[in-house]
Amino acid sequence: MTSIRTRLLVAYVCIILVGFAGLTVISGGQISSAAEADFGERLKTNVVLTARGIRDLLASYEDGALNGNSLQTALDQYEVEVGGELAFYPTRGHSSHPSDESPVRDSTERDDLEHAGIGHEMREIDAAMRGRSILVERPDKQGETVYFTAAPIMVEGRAEGILQLGVPSERLQAIIAGRWLELGLMFLLVTALALGAAFWLARSIIQPLNELRQSALRLAEGEFSHRVHQFHPDEIGEVARAFNDMAQQVESMLEEQRAFASNASHELRTPLTTIRLRTEALRYDSTLNEATAKAYIAEIDEEVTRLANLVQDLTLLSGFDAGRAELGQEQVDMHRFAQSLVHQVTAKSKDRDNSVQISLTMSGEPPLVDASINHLTVVFRNIFDNAIKYSPEGGVVSWEIEKRENGVWNTIRDAGRGIDPVHLPHVFERFNRADKARSRDIPGTGLGLALVKSIVEAYGGQISVESDGVSKGTIVNVYWPERPVLKSGT
Ligand code: ATP
Ligand code: MG
Repeated sequence: MTSIRTRLLVAYVCIILVGFAGLTVISGGQISSAAEADFGERLKTNVVLTARGIRDLLASYEDGALNGNSLQTALDQYEVEVGGELAFYPTRGHSSHPSDESPVRDSTERDDLEHAGIGHEMREIDAAMRGRSILVERPDKQGETVYFTAAPIMVEGRAEGILQLGVPSERLQAIIAGRWLELGLMFLLVTALALGAAFWLARSIIQPLNELRQSALRLAEGEFSHRVHQFHPDEIGEVARAFNDMAQQVESMLEEQRAFASNASHELRTPLTTIRLRTEALRYDSTLNEATAKAYIAEIDEEVTRLANLVQDLTLLSGFDAGRAELGQEQVDMHRFAQSLVHQVTAKSKDRDNSVQISLTMSGEPPLVDASINHLTVVFRNIFDNAIKYSPEGGVVSWEIEKRENGVWNTIRDAGRGIDPVHLPHVFERFNRADKARSRDIPGTGLGLALVKSIVEAYGGQISVESDGVSKGTIVNVYWPERPVLKSGT
């Protein structure tokens, strides 16, 4: 596996090297040709300026005053200034020159001129005689490559002679080599800087990722309270925040599950203990009279019913938790459903000696909802169960049903013991029973409203519980959509 750091670096380094090397080669080539052109122009300018200098020198002498020696001295001086070899060729057929018989020039070239003639090999001299200055590269007598150029020495419109300048090509090569060296150094410097930047960039990306990885590993090892503490001001910082949110959710979910499991086992254990005690008494206590035995059997029956209800609730709840519960598609007429439920609940409350009056208010067209009758029954049974349980004997419970856009609004009010504002936000929590001290005399496990909420929300509905406080009654609002509204992603 190649790490991100390596991949980043390789990609970056390749781009930098190829890019800069290409740039260096292209610009190096251009710089070389520019240096060459510049070199040639300079030679031509130098020879023209020197020719003018020599012309002025010639003009300053009286006829015959400038002999070969004084011209040679002048040429020597100019050679130092222009950095090359100068040679003077008197022009044939013009004897007005005040020099001695032989042309003054570097002795090495003198014979060439006389024997080979101007213009054959020395094209620059030929060109100078025609008034042009060109640059010619050729080997000199020693076989070294030299750049030659020449310019005429004009006196009163006539060429008195030709001045030739020769500079070894090594000079130009040294200049070009110097430019390439500068470029190479620049290339190395920029590459080093770019590499440094690449390392820094790779490090600044990888380091926070490594921190995140460590945190994820710690979470995987079960350290759910671990959080990332360093937040970089970039996308990785956002990932770290998202990671913390996720860890928080995982931790609270696990906490909830742990509490749920322990509450569930506690709720299951209590009736089981009672059943065991009563069966043991029935089996082994020979002093039990018939009336007590009957009471014990009734108690066992009650506990078994409680256990069965509890297991049923838990099964239903876990089905909704896991998203496995199938939402019913039966068309239920809410008016008829409500009438039938009110009938059952009233009869049951009478049986329990806790008779309450239930008033049902229905308005408008009978609303139809797509739902499972079983789910609807669990929801409203639980709500009425509570309203009756927590209401005094003979209390009044009202149920208003109103069809609104896309659903049905149900409002169930009782004038019972109400809910303390402190407990109100927790009524939907599993196994939570508001004000345990007061509820001790009333049976219940605290699962009812949790199950109701799970079912209502699975259908895309809403539920809320309101109470102005203790002894102020309770209102439960349930919105049930006409058709199940599936949550996105489910
Ligand atoms: P279970 O329904 O599992 O038998 P339960 O009725 O105690 O037990 P929930 O129905 O979930 O549990 O209700 C949670 C708590 O909310 C109750 O314990 C009770 O304190 C409070 N509560 C719910 N409905 C009412 C109500 N109509 N009047 C007063 N308190 C209520
Ligand atoms: Mg209940």
